[in-house]
Amino acid sequence: MNRSPIEKNEELELAIDSVTLEGAGVGRVDGFAVFVPGALAGERVRTHIIKTTASYAVGKLLEVAEPSPHRMEPLCPVYARCGGCAFGHVTYEEELRIKERQVADALTRLGGLKEVPMRPILGMDLPQRYRNKGAFPYGMTEAGPAFGFYAPRSHRLAPVDDCLIEQEGICRAVGVVKAWAERYQIRPYDEKTGKGTLRHAVVRVTTDRELMAVIVTKGDLPHKKELTEALSFADSVYWNRNDRNTNVIFGDSFTLLAGKPTLQETLLGLAFEVSPRSFLQVNPVQTQKLYGAALALLDPQPGETVADVYCGIGTISLLLARKAGRVIGIEVIPEAVKNARGNAVRNGVENASFLCAPAEEALPKLVADGQTIDCLTVDPPRKGCEVQVIDAILASGARRMVYVSCNPATLARDVKCLTSGGFTVQTVQPVDMFPRCGHVETAVLLSRPEARQ
Ligand code: SAH
Repeated sequence: MNRSPIEKNEELELAIDSVTLEGAGVGRVDGFAVFVPGALAGERVRTHIIKTTASYAVGKLLEVAEPSPHRMEPLCPVYARCGGCAFGHVTYEEELRIKERQVADALTRLGGLKEVPMRPILGMDLPQRYRNKGAFPYGMTEAGPAFGFYAPRSHRLAPVDDCLIEQEGICRAVGVVKAWAERYQIRPYDEKTGKGTLRHAVVRVTTDRELMAVIVTKGDLPHKKELTEALSFADSVYWNRNDRNTNVIFGDSFTLLAGKPTLQETLLGLAFEVSPRSFLQVNPVQTQKLYGAALALLDPQPGETVADVYCGIGTISLLLARKAGRVIGIEVIPEAVKNARGNAVRNGVENASFLCAPAEEALPKLVADGQTIDCLTVDPPRKGCEVQVIDAILASGARRMVYVSCNPATLARDVKCLTSGGFTVQTVQPVDMFPRCGHVETAVLLSRPEARQ
């Protein structure tokens, strides 16, 4: 086993060579990697080592001795204390370059590609006020009970009155819930003791300017009438009860307190119904760029049958259905499948059907049953595709596919399996869905000359 050449609590000066997707600068001491969150490539920094392992160390940034020309003063007053963003200290142009490089690096290092056919990342014109959803925990802070975000890698809550990446209206609604909680002395829920009542305020807005607020409590919700009165501007108000001692936000029971049960979101001319639990991409401006790119890359034809694996509420499926002969969506969450079916009807789409099952069961079964699949999209969660899904794609007749990914590492792992199985990567299109944050979305077109049968 290697031994770290660096001791915990040591202070050292370090040259930074690169930046991770999570916003940490990486420097080396005798080849040994040191991660310094907040440091930028090209900088010399002074760091205090707070952690060492056999393969890397982590240091706290004490001072930037030689700053990068891409360093900027964060626009957000709580940036240093809040763990929500990772690139507030970098110009947006540089953030885009970092993200592009991370996608290319993952595909070469983990994906085994010799050359990456990269298109320039699609960024936002104005990388602010883009999020359509905020989930704010309520807890005790130095300034008393408040909604906020957890500090990086900790359970310390930083109060946040206004978050610059949230769309207008979201923090205002959270502020109204805070005023109600203060007025009626609703105690914050404490994760450690399991005591207290108010856990989260989750607020979502749509492109149609509708707003949904979900108040999450442990135990009963006191002062319901006063809460719904305070939130009378909302189109939909839910109470969610979560009695479990967990950091999962929602419990099972949703009660509609006021307004309508679902909101409507319009994306690329299609209308989608959104329930409190439905997955919806958080950046509508960039979502349309991502879906537009995915659709153009796959280029489904009128006679083709297309599978949309991990289809959520059917967003990509219904876009595909406008071009393809037939679309089969696969999704594990029953509520989302119900939304997807409803969305098909709502948009007059008759050539899309949806299977409610785990993709690792449904796709192998479709292929084994001899279902024609001419091409497909996959859009899995962060952990990527299950191996059975990859095997089923390889065993299918599909000659083209678009892999939409929110995690370059699992994308690269799966791309490696797909290329080993005969696919070639044609185009890689990164999309900055999460400006200022340590995440990036990518659409990859893969094809093969003929299917293995
Ligand atoms: N394509 C959709 C959803 C992408 S998010 C959109 O763009 O809106 C990933 C989706 O995969 C979620 O809806 C999640 O519920 C679903 N999912 C997660 N694990 C799954 C599995 N094993 N099988 C099928 N669907 C799954």
